[in-house]
Order: sequence, then structure tokens, then C-alpha cells
Amino acid sequence: MSERIPTTTLDTNENKIYTRRTQGLYQRLRRYTGMPLLLSYLLIPWLSINDRPAVLFDLTAQKFHILWMSFWPQDGILLAALLILAAFLLFIATILVGRVWCGFTCPQTVWTMIFMWAENKCEGDRNQRIKLDRQPWSFNKLLRKGAKHGIWLLISLTTGLTFVAYFYPVQELLVDVVSLQASAETYFWILFFVSFTYLNAGWLRESVCKHMCPYARFQSAMYDKDTMVVTYDAERGNPRGGQKGDCVDCSWCVQVCPVDIDIRDGLQYACIDCGLCVDACNNVMDKVGYSRGLIRFTSQHAIETGRIQLIRPRLVAYIVSAVIMTGLFSYTVATRSPVSLDVVRDRGTHLFHTVRDGVENVYTVKINNMGTIDQTFTLSVEGQHRYILKGHHQVTVHPGEVYVLPARIWRAQDEQAKPLDILDFVVKSTTNPNIFARQKASFIAPAKVASTQR
Ligand code: SF4
Ligand code: SF4
Repeated sequence: MSERIPTTTLDTNENKIYTRRTQGLYQRLRRYTGMPLLLSYLLIPWLSINDRPAVLFDLTAQKFHILWMSFWPQDGILLAALLILAAFLLFIATILVGRVWCGFTCPQTVWTMIFMWAENKCEGDRNQRIKLDRQPWSFNKLLRKGAKHGIWLLISLTTGLTFVAYFYPVQELLVDVVSLQASAETYFWILFFVSFTYLNAGWLRESVCKHMCPYARFQSAMYDKDTMVVTYDAERGNPRGGQKGDCVDCSWCVQVCPVDIDIRDGLQYACIDCGLCVDACNNVMDKVGYSRGLIRFTSQHAIETGRIQLIRPRLVAYIVSAVIMTGLFSYTVATRSPVSLDVVRDRGTHLFHTVRDGVENVYTVKINNMGTIDQTFTLSVEGQHRYILKGHHQVTVHPGEVYVLPARIWRAQDEQAKPLDILDFVVKSTTNPNIFARQKASFIAPAKVASTQR
């Protein structure tokens, strides 16, 4: 079993875990999946398209820029659809191969992996770390611990700054932060994410997976008998019929486990399917000359029957749903009009103005250019009766700009119209008639005008 040393940690219910480093296929896979994700996270804020950050969540302007597209609060439904789609993809992965998201790609796992790498570099391997912790404080211990925490803080600072850079253009952010020109909120959020990273990846580690992550709680409900998870082959490993089993009880599988469980006790909710115990056990099997795979990714069904069944009705249903949702989402994004129109009646005035030859209503029109180039739009009104838009009605709107235009609509007094009528505001690009938006609004006339007309 893993050697535990009682220490004061932030999680008072847990003792400190000293994990052993191991080598093997799954350790490499974790590196190859985690590192590109980490690098993407760090580099994306530095990318720009058309002199604009490639990804920027501009909360002040209430718009999100993702690659060449801009999204406004009214596109929230797309964000919701994207999150639902991501959840379905996660369900598919979980039904197929258990908690691989947790073991290979979850930010908690990736950052913990980097923090553990720094710990290993500064304090040595598992036995050296145990020894160091048992030693009284000395210059060597202070130096090693100081270096480790220094590196952890540096990684946390980079993480915190990068996170805020998704909401604040990165060059401006760095200049403002260094020159102390950034707002108090900016410093607060940087500090918040620095502390969050330092505590989660440095101190809490597996406690987050075991006690704080909600996904850990319900993922077992998605498993079935064919879900491929890290499994100990008890039939092969345990002693049977007077014969020794293949397990040599070296406890390496426990020593490498980041959540400190013994996979030989069977499937446990805390297991994140990282495969490190598979690597460790395979290395032991190689050493003692037994065949690999005493611990392996397999399913309960495969252990019982020797057959792996990938295609199952529930999985097919999830895949079909995900494909349909991806199609609908892509179609919606691809055909999304690059202009939107918002018309509100002017609340600062009366419902209508009676003028000498007719009635006028006043509106505020907001034209939102969601495209990537300047557009000149013409505003017009359509309705059952003859409505005239007064004032200028052609405007040029820059990409990402919301142009606010007051609009005065006139209707003749002698119209055979109801006191309350509905008309359409239409905004159309002068260069591309396919770029247009339309919105309904009410037109209110005095009852006596309508009654004199009847
Ligand atoms: S039991 Fe194995 S697969 Fe599960 S978390 Fe521990 S090391 Fe990873
Ligand atoms: S690593 Fe393999 S051999 Fe060693 S205790 Fe674990 S299951 Fe047994």
C-alpha cells in the first residue's frame, strides 16, 4: 500500500499522497493530450484575426468574438446549444471509455500533472519527497520547497493572466497590469485565478476529483457492462485453487495512483481512468516475466465473455443525437444573418404625435453589424397602409458596431386604419440584398382619428 505520512494539508480529512512516477503508454498519452490543450489555452489570447483577438469575451461591449464571428447576448441560444452538444460528446466518451476526460484532458488533471512535474524536479522522486518531509527544516529543505512553490506560483500567475486575457486584449492587459493602470476588478480576477490554480493544482489535487467535481458523482450512472474502464483482472491476479495469482502485491499500482485508491478493490467512483496503474503494473509484469494486462482498459462484459462490444443501442442514440445537433448548430451558425435589428418605441415621448396632416410615432432603431466588414444599410418600413419614414435612413455600420438611429414614422390621417396597427421595420444592405433583418413594431394612432375615418 502507499506510504502515508500525516501532514497538515488544506484538506484536513486526507493525508498527503506521495505518488510514484511511472512510464508507459498511458503516461505518454496523458502528455500528448494534455500538453496541446495547455499550449492552446496559453496561446489563443495572442492570436488575432483582422487586427482583432481571435477569441475575446468582451463583457463591457456585451459581445463575444470567436475567430471571424461575433456573438451578442441574443446568440445565447447558440451558446446553450454548444454546451448541450459538448455534454452529449462527454456522455458518448463516458459510455465508451469511462472517465477519460478526467484522466487525460480535464484542466484539473493537466495542471496537477504540471505541478507534480515541478514537485518532482525540485524535491525528487517519491522516496526523496517522503524523506525530505520527514527531515527537520534546513537550508536544503527551504531551498527545495521554496523553488517548488516559486514555480507553482509562476505557473499560477501565467494561468491567471491568461484567463483574464480571454476577456481583455492580452497586450493591453500586460501593459495595464505592469504599469498599475488596470482596474481593481482586473487585479481581483487575476489574483482570484492565481489562488485558484495554486490551491487546486498544488494542494487540493485529487480532493477536487473526489469531493468537489459533480461529474464524478453521476458518471457511474452512464456506465454499462460494455464501458471500457481501468479494471483489475481479479480472476488472473488473485490466488486460486492453491496456486499463486499473477499479482505480486508490489503496490506500485497504488503508489502511482493520483487519487490514492487500490484498483484491486474493484471499480470505484474516485478512479479517473488515467491508466497510470496500467502502466505501473505492465512494468512490473515485464520485470517478473508475466504477460501484460493484469490491469487494463476493458469492460465487465469482456472480462466475463472475452468479447468487446462497442456498438450498443444507448450509444447509437447518443451518437445520432450528437450528429443531428452538430448539423443543426453548424447550419444555424453558417446561415446566421450578419445583421440584427432591434426596434423599441420611444418611451420618452407620448404614444403618438398628431400633426397637421397625419399621425407620427417615434422609435429607437438599433442596427447591429455582426459581420466582419463595413456595411451600408437602408432602413425602410412596410405595412398594410402607407407609412413614411422621415429623416435619413441610410447608415454605414462598422463590424461589431451597434448603430442607434431615431426613426419617425408618419401615416396620413385619412387612412382607413385601426388605432393599433402592426408594421415591419426592414434593414437591408445596399450591396448584398441577402443581408437583411426585419422586426415588427406597433403603430398607435388616436382613436378619434380612426373613428373619423370609419
Ligand atoms: S486506479 Fe488507476 S486509473 Fe484509476 S485513478 Fe488510480 S491510477 Fe488512475
Ligand atoms: S502493480 Fe500489478 S502486480 Fe503490483 S500490486 Fe498492483 S496489480 Fe499487483
